[in-house]
Amino acid sequence: MDERDKRRVGEQVEPGGRRKAPGRLELLQRFVNSYNHDFPRDWDRIGTQEKAQAWLEQKGLVSADVRVSGADAARLRELREAIRTLAIANHAGPPDPAVAGIIARASRTARLQVAVDDAGRTLLQPDRPGVDGAVASLLGILHEAQLTGEWRRLKGCRQCGYAFFDRSKNRSAAWCAMSICGNRTKNRAYRRRRSSTTND
Ligand SMILES: [Zn+2]
Repeated sequence: MDERDKRRVGEQVEPGGRRKAPGRLELLQRFVNSYNHDFPRDWDRIGTQEKAQAWLEQKGLVSADVRVSGADAARLRELREAIRTLAIANHAGPPDPAVAGIIARASRTARLQVAVDDAGRTLLQPDRPGVDGAVASLLGILHEAQLTGEWRRLKGCRQCGYAFFDRSKNRSAAWCAMSICGNRTKNRAYRRRRSSTTND
């Protein structure tokens, strides 16, 4: 993958050519993948208040008149990493309880209401605008995906933490792309085994 493709990962490009998560879960997946820990820090799509503002606006999570502060951007990044940890926990075992604490803190000011459309269908909607509303929308998606069971298929790559949607029958996928992270993990395990044999 060249740099141009790497910069598109998480938006236009999915490692391994996977399809993005279905329905609204795709937005939460894009949120987690607004940064990949294998890439330079300044590629973080919500790394500064300006970038966070542009990203939230582009995704329809805040309107153009909302001002995103540096502190808002920081709490969004903290929430993103907590949700990433939950996605990794979907195949790596229970997360550190502190992670649930971060999400619980975020949810205190992120209120949702049950809205109803003309056809009588219900929908969770933020009950206030701004960054709190954006956080509420994201947590609402997390909640809905947990109810439908789709959340269990959103996994954090064991190597790079990238969130991918596992459509395999037995939900066995562990890496964003076998050809990238799967092989890297295996090579490292191989080198570790070899050096421990050499040291014996
Ligand atoms: Zn990966």
